[in-house]
Amino acid sequence: MAASREQRIETRTRNPKWQNVPLRIEMAECINCDACLRHCPPQFGAIFNHSADVVIIPELCSGCDKCLPACPVNCIYPFPAWEQLGSPEQWWDEPLAESGGGYRS
Ligand code: SF4
Ligand code: SF4
Repeated sequence: MAASREQRIETRTRNPKWQNVPLRIEMAECINCDACLRHCPPQFGAIFNHSADVVIIPELCSGCDKCLPACPVNCIYPFPAWEQLGSPEQWWDEPLAESGGGYRS
């Protein structure tokens, strides 16, 4: 079970009940405007600033698509191969850094 965002961060496990595939940001097209980040519901909180990039951690992304209309350059895509391809280990530094920072899950 990874019912809460906190648990998902702790276990790095996506909620198996989520039917939609997670999304990914194509970095070559992203203009780093942060609009998607502001539209990702806090109970998911899947989008982060990581160094100069804006990234989606697939294990935290429910595939709700709320970020899609916010993107001015349409560079957010479905990521069906997320389990095979994975995402960089260092991305987890961002949600882990929130611990104790008062982020509501
Ligand atoms: S699809 Fe939903 S959960 Fe995933 S990054 Fe976009 S807004 Fe967040
Ligand atoms: S809204 Fe689109 S362009 Fe802006 S940071 Fe997000 S993915 Fe990048």
